[in-house]
Parts: sequence; C-alpha cells; structure tokens
Amino acid sequence: MKNIFGVEIPAVKVFITDDGVQYFFWCPFCQRFHYHGTAGLGHRLPHCINQNSAFLGNDGYVLEEYTKKELRKLGLPTDYYEKRKKKKSR
Ligand SMILES: [Zn+2]
Repeated sequence: MKNIFGVEIPAVKVFITDDGVQYFFWCPFCQRFHYHGTAGLGHRLPHCINQNSAFLGNDGYVLEEYTKKELRKLGLPTDYYEKRKKKKSR
C-alpha cells in the first residue's frame, strides 16, 4: 500500500490477543507493543510514542495477519486467528 506521495507504507505482522479483541505487534522504535482493534486490518495510524519512529514519517503502517505458512513456521496453529476472533452475531 502507498501513501498519497507514492511512498510505500510499511506492513507489520500482527498477533491477536487471547480474547480476540485486539491485534498487537512489537514496535521496534517504541520498544513496546502497539494494540489495535480487530475491526481493522490494513492501514492504521501509528500508536508510536517515540517521535523518531519511522512509522510516524511514513503515514503509519499496514496491519497484516500472518499467512498460514508463516504461522506454521512460527509453530502456531494455522487456525490461530479463526480460533480467537470474536464471533460476529447478527
Ligand atoms: Zn511505535
């Protein structure tokens, strides 16, 4: 994904909390986890507190789930997300 200046917005791979409510990833710039609601994968504004974070200069980041192949590599079950995501009831 690119920003309005045609610059690629960095993608980050997210884990999901056990209660299925939030995605999170380790931010190397802030040295802490950033959490985002599971309502939105894709482009998100950064939660960075480090003013020198590269994410702040790049219009944030794009949240992505791990692929099944990547999950297998990490030793996680391939239904990792499906199992945790809150069931939407209509
Ligand atoms: Zn950060």
